[in-house]
Amino acid sequence: MDLFEYQARDLFAKHDVPVLAGEVIDTPEAARAATERLGGKSVVKAQVKVGGRGKAGGVKLAATPDEAVARATDILGMDIKGHTVHKVMIAETAPEILEEYYVSFLLDRANRTFLSIASVEGGMEIEEVAATRPEAVAKIAIDAIDGVDQAKAQEIVAAAKFPAEVADKVAGVLITLWDTFIKSDALLVEVNPLAKVASGDVIALDGKVSLDDNAEFRHDWDELHDKAAANPLEAAAKEKNLNYVKLDGEVGIIGNGAGLVMSTLDVVAYAGEKHGNVKPANFLDIGGGASAQVMANGLEIILGDPDVKSVFVNVFGGITACDEVANGIVQALKLLEDRGENVTKPLVVRLDGNNAELGRQILTDANHPLVQRVDTMDGAADKAAELAHAAK
Ligand code: GDP
Ligand code: MN
Repeated sequence: MDLFEYQARDLFAKHDVPVLAGEVIDTPEAARAATERLGGKSVVKAQVKVGGRGKAGGVKLAATPDEAVARATDILGMDIKGHTVHKVMIAETAPEILEEYYVSFLLDRANRTFLSIASVEGGMEIEEVAATRPEAVAKIAIDAIDGVDQAKAQEIVAAAKFPAEVADKVAGVLITLWDTFIKSDALLVEVNPLAKVASGDVIALDGKVSLDDNAEFRHDWDELHDKAAANPLEAAAKEKNLNYVKLDGEVGIIGNGAGLVMSTLDVVAYAGEKHGNVKPANFLDIGGGASAQVMANGLEIILGDPDVKSVFVNVFGGITACDEVANGIVQALKLLEDRGENVTKPLVVRLDGNNAELGRQILTDANHPLVQRVDTMDGAADKAAELAHAAK
């Protein structure tokens, strides 16, 4: 989960990374009181999860509370690289900025380690610096067990050639930033710019944090979720504990086991090339012991997606045998119809593995008008793609 800048700022403050005061607002008028609380002037900053806000006009100085209201009026509702601005942060203005640096910690999957990236040429996007002046970007691996102590922080500072007069301060920031990274179970913490100001202090003026969703169970991250941006189908699926990801095609997919569902997506995408380029509409793994209720929950989500034109149920019977799955499908359709749902989309079902024959017989006997049985994965994918194309 990526955080907004104001959320990153709060997290930094909690772990003693030096930041400036700031609060988030969502109406222009609220900028007045917020700016007054900061002593009459402020920086008005668009809160969007995308870089380059400054260049896009999303970061403006306001010399008076009135000006803050005017800038907030300009910025709220603005579109920055496809992201609409719904909130702005009203922040304390930095004392005169003398230099802008870059520091970050991240998980380096390729090298199976943590990595620190640092540069004295911050402010602009680090990808740009890395592309044009790679020698200005220092990359130092961090051992997960040893972490960042004083010596490691000094090693990073030396590698990135920070000026001597800020070396100790930057090292101090690196230690608190590492603390933020580890204690928050983050995949990325980035400060850009880390500003050297007139007083000689260094301050994190902009932050980017990405948290590891797998660690959510040991944190209280409820209020960090951006509910406004969540896909409603994904939110509904999450509530029902389904492993569901919305995609942009037309063929709804249900399978048991993540590997089978992944290969089903490939097979459907391939089959779709012959049928008007239809594609999978979602990923949905109903898991091993899928009951009729779980099947009904899955079907409900998928049938509720207006983009879905046909559904492919691809099950390989294992611990849960095909006859149970077949009964699940029949009961799920009945459950939805009893609930008054308008079930009209065709389902293509492929059953194989444990008790496949029995499962197929159950579907044949049920003789549901929307359900078609196809006994091979390729054949079923082709049928589902064909039906989706016909219904488009
Ligand atoms: P980004 O463009 O999305 O990375 O947004 P930043 O928050 O990094 O802001 C862009 C630039 O605005 C920074 O590099 C600074 O030069 C400038 N900036 C940010 N905050 C302040 C501030 O409080 N005072 C001044 N004078 N400039 C600031
Ligand atoms: Mn920045």
